[in-house]
Amino acid sequence: MLSLNYVKAGNATFTIENSDGVYVTFNVKKQEFDDGARIMYFVKVKDGHEMVYLGTMQEVEVGKRYQVKHTRASRFPTNHEFFQIFDFALRMVTGIQPCPEGYKVHHEGTCGMCARPLTTPESIELGLGPVCAGRM
Ligand SMILES: [Zn+2]
Repeated sequence: MLSLNYVKAGNATFTIENSDGVYVTFNVKKQEFDDGARIMYFVKVKDGHEMVYLGTMQEVEVGKRYQVKHTRASRFPTNHEFFQIFDFALRMVTGIQPCPEGYKVHHEGTCGMCARPLTTPESIELGLGPVCAGRM
C-alpha cells in the first residue's frame, strides 16, 4: 500500500491490481500556480503503452477524500471505469476503503539492472523489467 504523501508528491506513478491480476497504472503530476497558492493535480492513466490524460485530482476533503474529475481535455468519457478505479485506489490509500482481499496498490519501482521504471505488478514484485529479467 502506498501513502497519500506519495500520491501528492509531484510526479507519482502507481499501479492498482485486483485479485484477478488485472491492473491499471496512474500518474499524478502536481503543478503549482501563483507561487504555490494554488495547486493542481493532473492525472494520467496508462492505456496500452501510452500515458493518457484522464482528469484533475480534486481534494474533496483535504487529507481524506479525493476524486478524479472529468475535464474538457479528458480523453475518456465520464462513465469510463478508469474514473471509478482511480477513486477506489485513493479511498484505499486514505484508509476510507479497506483493501479488499487480493487487491494491491504498488508504487512505481525501478529496474535493478537498468533503472528504467517498472509498472506491471509482476515486474515491481521482481524488481526487474521483462528484458532484464530474461538476462538473469
Ligand atoms: Zn531493466
